[in-house]
Formats: sequence, structure tokens, C-alpha cells
Amino acid sequence: MKLSIVVPCYNEENNVDLFYQEVTKTFSNKKIKYEIIFINDGSRDGTLIRLKDIASNAKEHIKIIDFSRNFGKEAGMYAGLKESSGEYVCIIDVDLQQHPSLILEMINILEGNPDYDSVAAYQEKRHDPFFRKIFSLLFYKIINKISDIEFVPGASDFRLLKRNMVNAILEMSEYYRFSKGIFSFVGFNTYYMPYEADKRANGSSKWSFWKLFKYAIDGIVSFTTAPLRFAAYFGILISFFAFIYFIVLIIQALVLGIDVPGYASTLGTVLFLGGIQLFALGIIGEYLGRTYVETKRRPIYIAKDIITNKKQRKK
Ligand code: UDP
Ligand code: MG
Repeated sequence: MKLSIVVPCYNEENNVDLFYQEVTKTFSNKKIKYEIIFINDGSRDGTLIRLKDIASNAKEHIKIIDFSRNFGKEAGMYAGLKESSGEYVCIIDVDLQQHPSLILEMINILEGNPDYDSVAAYQEKRHDPFFRKIFSLLFYKIINKISDIEFVPGASDFRLLKRNMVNAILEMSEYYRFSKGIFSFVGFNTYYMPYEADKRANGSSKWSFWKLFKYAIDGIVSFTTAPLRFAAYFGILISFFAFIYFIVLIIQALVLGIDVPGYASTLGTVLFLGGIQLFALGIIGEYLGRTYVETKRRPIYIAKDIITNKKQRKK
């Protein structure tokens, strides 16, 4: 069995060595052949230097995909999967929040249950701030209601995949990538393994609340067109009430002889409807914008260089 370990890295100069040490420690007595694929996602610190240093001293096969700029973790994972050659592929963070020894547990699960094609780690207990917890709960509630595929709360990108599933994911070459959805969309049997995330070894998370919010919108727009339908339903509903109101006004004016009431209600209605219209337009814009970008078929990532130590090893 050959294992490919895919590791996206962005400004992680203080973590890559620690991570590599933990991986070698984990696999030192094991008969598992593995390669590590590091993606340097346009880091501005010394990450690349550290990675090159690891590659030149390592006994195992190391590949470094050096991006021309920061393309984001999603692009990093795609590049890693594309460059992987293992029968099993594991995606893992470099910050040691997910300990490499968990990969062994994942392998055991897959080896013991041939029916499963992948293992996804999910956090049972999360140490997120209160506001973020609520937001994430809401996100999963909404997206599971309005999309056809299942999103498991807390499931991370920390996964072990069999080759056939990796190939299926690579077939999905969309520019706006939302892995949680892509993993579900391709189907296959996934085993959900609970784990507890450790504290980040060094540095800080790259996720701000605003980034998470945009990511959530990405997820919704990428995996369901329901919001477009909501806009239509809402429009129909408002038109219906407007029609009833109109009839009431006519009856009041013609039958009861009451004057059409004044300007406050008119202004209120106009503003309300204007707001709704802009909101609906915004939803359409979100989808249209993405369609525009997708039709350009831009590459998901651009690699400046792919460095490997394979030749060195053969000597
Ligand atoms: N990462 C990346 N590109 C980015 C942001 C993050 O490759 O633009 C990597 C990062 O180096 C780490 C992993 O993705 O290995 C997870 O990032 P982070 O720890 O910031 O996310 P969190 O654990 O808070 O979800
Ligand atoms: Mg992290």
C-alpha cells in the first residue's frame, strides 16, 4: 500500500519541521510506503526554504508544489490530490491540530471495512467562540435543508481517501471549490471518525469571521440554486398580498367612499419592495458572477515549480 499525505501550507515556517518530525515518528516502525506532498500556497515567510530543506534531507519521497501566489487551501488540496500517486491519499493540516498518528487509525478503519471508500474526521467537541458556534450551527441547518447533498456538522478536510474517490474529486474541476460539498457530492461510503483537534502548534488560524461568512455563502451558492427559487416564491407571495390590498383599496374607495390613505404607507411599501428587489437582484448577481468566472475556465492554481527529491533518493 502506498500513502500520499497532502499538506497545504501558508505561512507556516514554524510548523513544517515539527509536522515532518511527527510524521516520521508516526511511521517509523510501520511498513507503510508513503510520500508527502507539501503545497506552498504563496507563503510570504520562510516556509519554502524550510520545505526544501526537509526535501533534501528526507529519506522518503517529498514533493513540493510551489504556487505562484496564494490561491487558498481549496486550491492547495486540489493540487495535492492531482500530484498524488498513492492508493490512499490523506489531506491534513500542517499546524498539528490534527495529529499525524490519527492517519494510522484512519488506515485501520479502511483496511478493516472494505465497504468504506474514505474516512472523514469530525470534531465532536469544538472550542469555537460562542458566536461562531451559533453561526456554524445555523449554516449546517440551512444548507442541509436547501441542498440535496448531506453536510455533516464539524466534518473537516482531514480525510483519508481511496484512489477511486480521489479520481472522482479531480473530475470536479470547478473554480469555486467548496470541499465539504465536493466530498459529499461525489458520493462513495464515508466513515465519520470523531477526533479532538489540538491547539495550533505555532502561528494563528487564517480564518476570520468574515472569511468564514464568505466561505459559507460560497458553499450555499455552489451546491444549491434554492435561493434563486426563494426569490421567485417571495415575489409571488408579495404580488398576491399586493393584489388583495389593491382590491381592498378599491372597495374602500368605491363602496365605502373612504379616501385612499396617505403618503407614509405608499413610501413604506415602495422602500420595502425596493429592498426586496435589490436583495433578489443580489442573489441573481451571486450566481451570475460565478457563472461568468467559471466560463473563463481559469486554472484553479498556478504552480511556479514542482520540486521533488525522488532522483536524489535513487542515487
Ligand atoms: N492554508 C493554506 N492556504 C490558505 C490558508 C490556509 O494552504 O490560504 C493551510 C494552512 O497552512 C493549514 C491549513 O490550510 O495547514 C488550515 O489552515 P488554518 O489552520 O488557518 O485553518 P483552521 O485550522 O483554523 O481551520
Ligand atoms: Mg488549523
